Amino acid sequence: MMTIRSQRIFNTGINSNFTLIPVCDMKSGTDTKLSYKITRIYIMQIGIGYDVHRLVKGRKLILGGAVIPFEKGLLGHSDADVLVHAVCDALLGSVGLGDIGLHFPDSDPKYKDISSLKLLAQTNALVRQKGFTIRNIDTIIFAEAPKIGPYRETMQKNLAHAVELSPGCINIKATTTEGLGVIGKGEGIGAMSVVLVS
Ligand SMILES: [Zn+2]
Repeated sequence: MMTIRSQRIFNTGINSNFTLIPVCDMKSGTDTKLSYKITRIYIMQIGIGYDVHRLVKGRKLILGGAVIPFEKGLLGHSDADVLVHAVCDALLGSVGLGDIGLHFPDSDPKYKDISSLKLLAQTNALVRQKGFTIRNIDTIIFAEAPKIGPYRETMQKNLAHAVELSPGCINIKATTTEGLGVIGKGEGIGAMSVVLVS
């Protein structure tokens, strides 16, 4: 509770947006003062992420932290988890923190073969440091093969654990590109994500 003389709304940046709501009038001697309760306005922001990695022989295929038996795996400096990379980019975008390459450069040896779920957990920490909480994450995987369905629940749980959400707040969809383009020819796998934070 705080006492002020008139109602106003002030914005001081994305981490501290408040509105003052009058809750009662009070008489104190000759002064009439309004008492206000400070209530947080839930500012909502969205972010989008997109990524593609090449499929090559001799690599494990890891999507959403799930190891999927397949003849090829995704090429990259980390474990090349294209789904998690798209989610990281969406989250970083939602709070205006650039992209995954800025925070976890592929020139840095410490990220060599790292599980991208660790990068996602660090990204979640960055989002929280900016004063935001993730509300939901939607995703699409673009792949001609393999079938994603059997691994969807595992991916959901892995992502949810990394960002401290319930699995119900994570949605994973998959589609082919009907044989068109590099993804349709099986040369790579792509992923897209949209997130909401507040
Ligand atoms: Zn990537």
